[in-house]
Amino acid sequence: MTGRLLLCSPQDQTPKHTHAIASLASGRELRFVDPRRFGRLSVAIDESFAGPGTEPLTIGADDFAELFRGRKTPIKAALLNQKLLHGVGNIYADESLFRAGIRPRRQAGRLTRAELDRLHVAVKQVLEEAIKLGGSSVSDYVDAEGREGFFQLQHRVYLRTGQPCLVCKTPIKRIVLGGRGSHYCERCQR
Ligand SMILES: [Zn+2]
Repeated sequence: MTGRLLLCSPQDQTPKHTHAIASLASGRELRFVDPRRFGRLSVAIDESFAGPGTEPLTIGADDFAELFRGRKTPIKAALLNQKLLHGVGNIYADESLFRAGIRPRRQAGRLTRAELDRLHVAVKQVLEEAIKLGGSSVSDYVDAEGREGFFQLQHRVYLRTGQPCLVCKTPIKRIVLGGRGSHYCERCQR
């Protein structure tokens, strides 16, 4: 008659005295069965579950700049690296780099502090706009696969290959970086 934790499939019959069911990422269920109700269930939120990356909306300018120090990868790839920043997907990276006036191929560790400050502001602006357009919380910028959600940012460069830049009318270029299409204006971005 002691309480038990059972790992089950959702279609398994739910035994009597099941007091809690947790759905696991694997699709299975963790069920707490406690006929005599002596058990106690507590939930501990471990912040490390969020992974090692930093939250782009709350990071300070110094910490933001520090993320990219010494990195030899293109800045576009560094922005997409979820171990550095959470939730910056392909669209938001392209749009942020355009607003900051930085070419996606630039080596992250070689950007000046002024450029990194502009990029920091741009990333925050882009994400805040995206959230305002329909994401209910910061976790909505991308889904688990890293794809952007249902809300449509006003794209200035993303998927506008060959179309005139909204600022200078130069046709938008597309290159592939780390397997991802990257869109930029070669005049506005240096
Ligand atoms: Zn331009």
